[in-house]
Amino acid sequence: MENETLFNEEAEPPGHATGLVVVKKKTADFFSLTTDHQQPSLAKSKPERIYFPFKDSPRSRTFRKKHYPDISRIEWFDWRWQFQNAIRSVQALDAILHLSDNERQAMMHPSGDLPVAITPYYASLISPDDPSSPLRRCVVPVVDECLHTKGEEEDPLGEDADSPVPGIVHRYPDRVLFLVTDICSTYCRYCTRSRIFGRQHQCFIDTAKWERALDYIASNPNVRDVLLSGGDPLTLSDDRLEWLISRLREIPHVELVRIGTKVPVVMPQRITPSLVSMLKKYHPLWMSIHVTHPDELTPEMSAACIRLADAGIPLGSQTVLLAGINDSVSTMTRLVHGLLQIRVRPYYLYQCDPIPGSSHFRTPISKGLEIIKGLRGHTTGYAVPTFVVDAPGGGGKIPLLPEYAIGWDKGDLMMRNYEGSLFRYPDNHAESKDIH
Ligand code: SF4
Repeated sequence: MENETLFNEEAEPPGHATGLVVVKKKTADFFSLTTDHQQPSLAKSKPERIYFPFKDSPRSRTFRKKHYPDISRIEWFDWRWQFQNAIRSVQALDAILHLSDNERQAMMHPSGDLPVAITPYYASLISPDDPSSPLRRCVVPVVDECLHTKGEEEDPLGEDADSPVPGIVHRYPDRVLFLVTDICSTYCRYCTRSRIFGRQHQCFIDTAKWERALDYIASNPNVRDVLLSGGDPLTLSDDRLEWLISRLREIPHVELVRIGTKVPVVMPQRITPSLVSMLKKYHPLWMSIHVTHPDELTPEMSAACIRLADAGIPLGSQTVLLAGINDSVSTMTRLVHGLLQIRVRPYYLYQCDPIPGSSHFRTPISKGLEIIKGLRGHTTGYAVPTFVVDAPGGGGKIPLLPEYAIGWDKGDLMMRNYEGSLFRYPDNHAESKDIH
């Protein structure tokens, strides 16, 4: 699995079963609003055109034929099918993986609020035999989730305290986080917002809550940047998403809309031409994609990202540093190089947040610094993300850097370069300070 990335995976020969396919829309919409009367009419009866130039990788094609023999290629490439058929039960997981006792126990006795869901597509990327394989550890629970250690909190970033109305987190002066849904197509076991998934009656897909959030943004002229997140905003239908984005665009002081999502990674079939043509109407629109490991960089994910980039949507990646999953310079180098090739700029490398039961995922801070040191200077600057700790208690993102600046000597700044060699810079305007 370690070597099976986008760039060495054999793709299906071109021309076979790709192209424009017309399928009948299956259901009106299964992401129903709880208070639909305020929502614009969303049900459309016209058939939906699903165009998939995606070539399913041999791995995922073999997986489909083995585990879903009655499912056609067209259904497999329909994101609604992927979403509806997400693997959620121990029985379903047992059918595709050899579950370890540890995993089985965790599946049968869930410890917290975070449900299990894995799209069939993402399941096709998981090693069926190795419980320690990177992608499997990200989405299949283990009993370590029950182990709560010192410093862990349900809401480690203090988001609830910075929430003036439901669904809005207003921490920084000029921007807000807008949690538009509490649904994801695939749940990451280390999710910072695992607390919101298990709350009863907390469904954010509620126009009354959305309206209150929009009113809040409209009445705060200092808010120039809105980040749509959740849950995953790309689990919403095109119509709902457009309704939200167009309402934001009507607010004159909102200069920028961003979407935070893992969908291009776990359900790339969602990135349809109709979604992309809708999104490109609302530029400037940026997207942060949650990518964890180079094994996620498949032909399907690549096609999804390139399609978004071709629509003029700047793409950045956000990666959580995870022990035994991506915490090495070599793995991270493969990831950032692969991302640049599909036009995704590595943006943030996050220290894993201390949610309950996260100790098996968390690395020492020194590991993040070691990775940045192993990237900076050794590869393209665009490939180097900013390593940040989201400060517990609501301090916001704090960037951490290896020690390049080591002090002043007779007014010169003393610095080490990426090879560890010492250099000085005549810092004319600095007060003369010596190294202590
Ligand atoms: S996709 Fe994001 S919001 Fe959803 S479970 Fe993963 S980390 Fe949490």
